[in-house]
Amino acid sequence: MFADRCKPVRATRPPVVLAAGRRQTGAMRDATVARLDYGYFVRPPDEAGPEPSPRPCLGYLVDHPEARLLVDTGMGTDPEVDAYYRLHRIELPDALARLGLRLDDVDAVANCHLHFDHCGGNPLLSGRPIFVQRVELEMATTTEGYTLPELVDAPGFRYEVLDGEAEVLPGVFVVPTPGHTPGHQSVVVRRRDGTVVVAGQSHETAMEYGTEVLARRAAGEDAHAMADLRLGPEWVARLQSFDPARVVFAHDRSVFEP
Ligand SMILES: [Zn+2]
Repeated sequence: MFADRCKPVRATRPPVVLAAGRRQTGAMRDATVARLDYGYFVRPPDEAGPEPSPRPCLGYLVDHPEARLLVDTGMGTDPEVDAYYRLHRIELPDALARLGLRLDDVDAVANCHLHFDHCGGNPLLSGRPIFVQRVELEMATTTEGYTLPELVDAPGFRYEVLDGEAEVLPGVFVVPTPGHTPGHQSVVVRRRDGTVVVAGQSHETAMEYGTEVLARRAAGEDAHAMADLRLGPEWVARLQSFDPARVVFAHDRSVFEP
């Protein structure tokens, strides 16, 4: 079911519906992307600037005709971490229930990266393939303090280790988007009425992403006058090459639309 393929393709234009999807039948079935609410935490001042900053923790369920792929599984739990971040967790089974789904309905997992707030529910999904970049898995399993160790190494875990971009389901691509972590990855979901990019924590906010997209456009239109604009990483162009109708994020409810 899950093959390492890479076939970049152009998408059609919006509108696209970011809505919960139940399995449908018939030839016209299209993949849907639904948001899951895993709760929130508060970044303390020394991490987020002069003031504490509450952030949502969001996941996305890709309901594809061949499989349900869950992008991020919520926040792990640890007394010290919970207190430090004033964390209010919605457990994975409860988050799924809001979409009318159970743990058994999830066929595969892709974590944008393996920090504790993105793979907290992975132990509940053991046996399911977990798509991860090799460099991310190595970091998470060898670097002290990188994540909660029990979230990345437990009996029954079944990693599908990727070295770069891969088409993991027809029209569903995992694309490396390093920066926040060396092995950060995003998930691109081609849909007939518009591609959705689940960009995870590639950017903290939709506005940051949009700023880099516009900077690239401006520099392309007038390289001389716009030479001082910060373009951001090269992979922003790769994500944009899918012509996304929507780009969604792990810690921002706002959505980038071109
Ligand atoms: Zn995060």
